Amino acid sequence: MLLRSSIAPPSTSHRGPGCRGALLRAIETIRDRGNENRDGAGDVMAIGSRVLEQTRCTCGLAAAGAREYMRRVIAFICWFTGLTRLVFGLRRKRIRFLAYHRIGDRQADFLPYQLSCGGPRFQQHITMLGSLGRVVPISNVTGNMAVRRASEHNGFVIMFDDGFKDNLAAVDIAARNGASVCVALTTDLIGAQCLIPLHTFYYLHWKLGARAVLAATNEQAGIPEGSLDRADAVTARAMVEHAIGDQIGSAPAQRVVAKLEKQCEDSSHQYAAWAQRLYLTWDDVRLMISRGACIAAHSCSHRRLSALDRKEIEREVTTCKRIIEHETGIGVNAFVYPFGERTSVHADADDVLLRSGFSMAFTAERTWLDGGPNAFAIPRLVVGNWPAWRLAFELLFTDGIDIT
Ligand SMILES: [Zn+2]
Repeated sequence: MLLRSSIAPPSTSHRGPGCRGALLRAIETIRDRGNENRDGAGDVMAIGSRVLEQTRCTCGLAAAGAREYMRRVIAFICWFTGLTRLVFGLRRKRIRFLAYHRIGDRQADFLPYQLSCGGPRFQQHITMLGSLGRVVPISNVTGNMAVRRASEHNGFVIMFDDGFKDNLAAVDIAARNGASVCVALTTDLIGAQCLIPLHTFYYLHWKLGARAVLAATNEQAGIPEGSLDRADAVTARAMVEHAIGDQIGSAPAQRVVAKLEKQCEDSSHQYAAWAQRLYLTWDDVRLMISRGACIAAHSCSHRRLSALDRKEIEREVTTCKRIIEHETGIGVNAFVYPFGERTSVHADADDVLLRSGFSMAFTAERTWLDGGPNAFAIPRLVVGNWPAWRLAFELLFTDGIDIT
């Protein structure tokens, strides 16, 4: 108890650049004390490391806030002085890929608003993209990195990940502008009656608050109650995301989810009703296609491929493709990696994808994973609820496919 109370103050009182150093020193002290009395030294170290991790997040958030502000100012100046447009005009023409998730009012729903873009904003994005080049359907892109028709223009492919019901609105907005979007489907979610674990955590966080989620996670991880409850909401979400990123599908994570779901039921919330309103049905998907949408595969269960063995990856990839093709009657040749970051792409994935009949795959990284073009690691820009001028600026720093 003494040792634990020694950890807590630095984690909350030091928010400046030196706090990491202060925490490291605190942990050194704790370790020394732990060596004097070895009972529980391992636990203390584990708690100390967690606190350090949290505090790094908190410091990182402050720094990220400042960087974000500066970036916004620079983006604004570049757009309104015409610099962004000028650079786009001078640079080699490319096709760039944009990753959205949801369309709608970010206040009205529980999933993190970073994943949502307002309808009017999305309309502004399409107009802006049209002024810089052309919004092209993904069917114009082939896996060998060439575009069927050579173009004088920059190309932009708009994609939506996961299979949210509100993507129907995006398809309609795009259609009104003569454009097409590509919706990447996670087949287990289509017509789902419950939330996937990732969304469950977001939901629980929103519904029950950071403390409850943290307490349950800590309990499963064997961390004494009270040691982490000073975390703020943002840090808690980061922790939860991290926890499920590593544990998704594992028994401890499932127990956490089960326990928290029970709490939600106890608070008499219509848990399943959320899921039904949240995800597309197959009828929705067919409707989207009739309105001009293209479809990509995004796995069956949205698990991180790097955490799976080859057999499981094959199932995630081939079954997803088979189900989509069966339900829609159209061929699917594009795959979107769940989570999409560098660490979530399995080394064998491109081989599995190629054998399964895919000709291209997309990450959520802005640059090529291995520094060069690879049809199975095409970069995308994950788009937030940004003004159009901000989107244009961010696209300057996003790799794309050269038009040949
Ligand atoms: Zn996804």
